[in-house]
Amino acid sequence: MNGQCIIDLATGQAHKSRMSEIFKGNFTQQEPIPEQGIEAALRVMQSGRLHRYNVAQGEISEAALLEQEFAAYTGAKYCIGVASGGYALACALRAVGVRPGDRVLTNAFTLAPVPGAIASTGAVPVFVGVTEGLVIDLDDLETRIDGAGCLVLSHMRGHLCDMDRLMQICDAAGVIVIEDCAHTMGATWNGVPSGRHGAVGCYSTQTYKHMNSGEGGLLITDDDQIAARATMLSGSYMLYDRHLVAPDPQVFEAIKYDTPNVSGRIDNLRAAILRPQLADLDAQVARWNDRYRVVEEGLQGTPGLTLIDRPKAGVYVGSSIQFLLLDWSADKIADVLARCLARGVELKWFGGDEPNGFTSRYDSWRYAPSERMPASDRVLRGIIDMRLPLTFSLEDCAQIARIIRAEVGAVWQGA
Ligand SMILES: *Cc1c(COP(=O)(O)O)cnc(C)c1O
Repeated sequence: MNGQCIIDLATGQAHKSRMSEIFKGNFTQQEPIPEQGIEAALRVMQSGRLHRYNVAQGEISEAALLEQEFAAYTGAKYCIGVASGGYALACALRAVGVRPGDRVLTNAFTLAPVPGAIASTGAVPVFVGVTEGLVIDLDDLETRIDGAGCLVLSHMRGHLCDMDRLMQICDAAGVIVIEDCAHTMGATWNGVPSGRHGAVGCYSTQTYKHMNSGEGGLLITDDDQIAARATMLSGSYMLYDRHLVAPDPQVFEAIKYDTPNVSGRIDNLRAAILRPQLADLDAQVARWNDRYRVVEEGLQGTPGLTLIDRPKAGVYVGSSIQFLLLDWSADKIADVLARCLARGVELKWFGGDEPNGFTSRYDSWRYAPSERMPASDRVLRGIIDMRLPLTFSLEDCAQIARIIRAEVGAVWQGA
C-alpha cells in the first residue's frame, strides 16, 4: 500500500490521496548524443562535406560507413541510409515493384507514416486486424491475402508476431514482406534480428526511436535488385560506387536508366551522430528492458488492467510499454488518464474518438477506407501506451508504476 487514505466528504468513499507522490520526469526527454557523436559531427561540419557523395580523395563518407556497420549489425548484405523511416518504407515499396492501384496489406494498428508510405506510391492500403497481444492477426491476414502482392508488417510498439507462421503464410501466397522496424531496432525473433525475415527491413532514426539523429532512416536487404533500385531511388545519381555495401556495378547498369530518383538521402552529419549510437545499441536495449521490467512488475496483478504477454521467442526492446483497459467505458479510461496526468504520468490512449497528437488506428486514415473490424476495435479502444525514455531511472519507473496502479485501482473500484 502506498499513499495515505483520505475520506471524500461528499461521497463518504475512501480513496488514495491524490496529494501523494507526483512524478516529475519528462516523457519526451531523450538522452544527449554521445560525446563521440558530437565530436564526429563537429569534424563533419569543419570539413564542410555534409553531402554523402561529397568526399575528399580516398575518403569514405560517414554515411557509407554507417551503412556498412548497420549491415554488419543486422547481418544483412546491403544497407541504404535515407531521410526518414517513412521514406525507407516508400522506397522499399517502389524497389520491390509496387505500382499505383496495387493492394498493399498492413496493420490496422500502426503509426500514420506506414499507411502514408503506401499511399505515397499510389497503392491502396488494406488493413489487417490486431490481436490482444497487439500484433497482426494472422488468421485475419489469411482471409485478406488473396490478390495482395505485398505486406508492410509493422512491429508496432515492438510487439513481434509469430514470425515463422507469418512468413509461411506470406511465402505460400507469394506475398513480399517489408518490415517496419521503427520500434524493433535491436530486437530478435528466434535469434533472427527484426528486419531480417522479410525481403526488406526499414528503420527510423527519428528522435523517439532507438537511435536519434533527429530524422533519418535505414533500409536493409539481401536482394541485389532491391538494393540497387533502392539506392537509385534514394537519390544516388550515378555515384552509387561511393557506397561500401552495394551490389556489383552490373546490377546498377541494368536498372540505372529506368529507376527514378526520388531524392531522400541521409547526410554525413546524421550518420556521424548515429555511428557511436549503433556501437552502444545493445547496451541501450538492456537499459530499456531493465526499465520496462520494473514498470511491468509494478503493474502486475492490477485489477482491470491487462499486461501484454511478451512471447519467449522474441527479444524485445522496452522503449515503451502498453497495457489494455479492455471493455472499460471511454469515461473511465479518460478518468484514469486525467488522474495519472495530474500526478505527472503521461499516458497515451489510442482509443479516443478523436486522435490526439498522432494517429495509430485504421479508422483515422480515411483516404484508405476499411470495413469495421469489431474484434480489433475492442482492442484498439483499450490500448494505453507510455514511453520509457532512458532518462528515467529505475526508481522513476517504480514510482510511475505505483501511480498508475493506484489510479487504475481507484477508478476500477469506483466502477
Ligand atoms: C516513427 C515510425 C515510423 C516512421 O518513422 P519516421 O522516421 O518518423 O518517418 C514508421 N512506423 C512506426 C511504427 C513509427 O513509429
